[in-house]
Amino acid sequence: MHDNDNGTEKKNLFHSIYLIEIFKGMMNTLKHFWLVKKFTVQYPEEKLKAAKGYRGEHRLKKDDQGRPKCVACFMCATACPAECIHIKAGEAPWPDRDKYPEEFEIDLLRCIYCGYCELACPCDAIELTETFNIVSTTRGEKLYNKERLLNGK
Ligand code: SF4
Ligand code: SF4
Repeated sequence: MHDNDNGTEKKNLFHSIYLIEIFKGMMNTLKHFWLVKKFTVQYPEEKLKAAKGYRGEHRLKKDDQGRPKCVACFMCATACPAECIHIKAGEAPWPDRDKYPEEFEIDLLRCIYCGYCELACPCDAIELTETFNIVSTTRGEKLYNKERLLNGK
């Protein structure tokens, strides 16, 4: 066999391998385009739901009579490492408890969303919800008072 023939054969082999690799690459691209789960969402039209157990904004819970479950024991404020919970206790207007929170405020700009307040509460009265995307335009809007914590507004 001549040297020229050898060279042509090598060239053809090289080209066929090269085309196979291009084909593989195209198949991989198409696979990701059609079959693999997409992670990009078109926010704000499309919104992701927070994972279960996500620690977002706080909520004060109510009992079955619509009263705050909180008994103003200060356990959450004591446990809070950011010192961002401020409670003013008052004498409860109901016979089944001594105190209730006259005022309850959380500074969400200081909060580190650790969840210690929820863990410390003996009455299951406070929880961190899965809400994370509330936009505020002033610092004051991030000071959540009792009304906001109880009713979400
Ligand atoms: S989540 Fe942590 S930092 Fe935020 S209020 Fe509760 S205890 Fe404090
Ligand atoms: S620990 Fe619970 S009951 Fe006690 S003050 Fe905090 S929210 Fe209220």
